[in-house]
Amino acid sequence: MAKGGRTGAGGDLSPATRLVGGGRKPEWTGTPAEPGAVVNPPVWRASTHLYPDSAALHAGKPNADGHFYYGRRGSPTQWALADALTALEPGAAGTVLYPSGVTALAGALMAVLRPGDVLLMTDNAYEPTRNMGRGLLRDFGIETRWFDPLDLAAFDAAIDERCKAVLLESPGSLTLEVQDVPTLAATARARGLTVVLDNTWAGPLGFAALAQGADIAVMSLTKHVGGHSDLMMGSASAGERHYAKLRRTAQQLGLVVSPDDAALALRGLRTMSLRLERETGSALALAAWLDARPQIARVLCPMLPGSPGHELWKRDFTGGCGLFSMVFKGKDGAARDAFIDALDLFGIGYSWGGYESLVSPIDPAPLRTASHWPLAGMADEDRYGVRLSIGLEGLDDLQADLARGLAAWQAA
Ligand SMILES: *Cc1c(COP(=O)(O)O)cnc(C)c1O
Repeated sequence: MAKGGRTGAGGDLSPATRLVGGGRKPEWTGTPAEPGAVVNPPVWRASTHLYPDSAALHAGKPNADGHFYYGRRGSPTQWALADALTALEPGAAGTVLYPSGVTALAGALMAVLRPGDVLLMTDNAYEPTRNMGRGLLRDFGIETRWFDPLDLAAFDAAIDERCKAVLLESPGSLTLEVQDVPTLAATARARGLTVVLDNTWAGPLGFAALAQGADIAVMSLTKHVGGHSDLMMGSASAGERHYAKLRRTAQQLGLVVSPDDAALALRGLRTMSLRLERETGSALALAAWLDARPQIARVLCPMLPGSPGHELWKRDFTGGCGLFSMVFKGKDGAARDAFIDALDLFGIGYSWGGYESLVSPIDPAPLRTASHWPLAGMADEDRYGVRLSIGLEGLDDLQADLARGLAAWQAA
């Protein structure tokens, strides 16, 4: 058997090494005669599994991970990706893949909630997650109650006997408040709630979700793992008990990801630590520079000393990423749009975590029902902001581009 790359799941290896080796089981990267003969698991486009005879069919393991049965249960390409993600998440027994991050959130919530239950959801959750509470979950008889992401006492007070799960997201979408996840999770678990964390921003390299108290760690793989703005996918990782629930729910929903996309995600995963390191460094430098500009009221970047959430980030996180927001000093939405339109290097669009920089306007106020925007300590007229996803371009070029944007804002 060929050497190399078979060690990725080892628990005492560094995350960087697990990123390289995860999912590369020799039986998935070769032939029976030559296990491990290629570096990557091939793309298995397969719906039907053929058995040599009836006895083999009867002996098949329809519901075991890592066994061919039928295309919906996956092939080595998808198993390798799930395996690699499990290897990155301390405390995980398994990972379920979903066609998008939103499906992953829906799959996780449907796995742990039943009609009559109440879900507590952080007020800064990703907008489609909020919509799920108001729509899909409500239609299935599940009530969602929103809470202020930063108010630990209010969270504790909000829990009653109908509350069965909590959805945390830290840092939150658009405004990037860092939640005290260990404390919130301990409070929730002590009262019997299942803790679901949307960990898309930091991913497992930046925040060890399960080790910090979450029961289920959800990620949009569309962002850092894909990393190249060319695929949609999501994941949920959990320990034994919750993994079984996730798997059962996903199987009954018939969820499956394409092997082609799984291969792309695996390719992205291998370089994720490098990209995150570079994006984090550039984002931090740009956030500090923007923080000192007179046009900017507030930079919302937990990695930046002095920025909201920095102390918790320093305490709980082992890494960051290129995504942060900022709020202009006064003026209006038209001035904000002038800033965006003056940028050359930043694409205008949703999503983030790709190799290329992106900008999008943020308008958090109408989304909130349990907390206030602008945040405490910010002036009410400082409400027009943008979110920046910093990519792999040269730092000086990005800074010059942002300077161009600020001049246009000034002139508007
Ligand atoms: C993008 C995103 C999602 C949804 O992921 P998709 O892959 O786009 O469905 C979920 N949570 C957060 C925080 C996101 O930014």
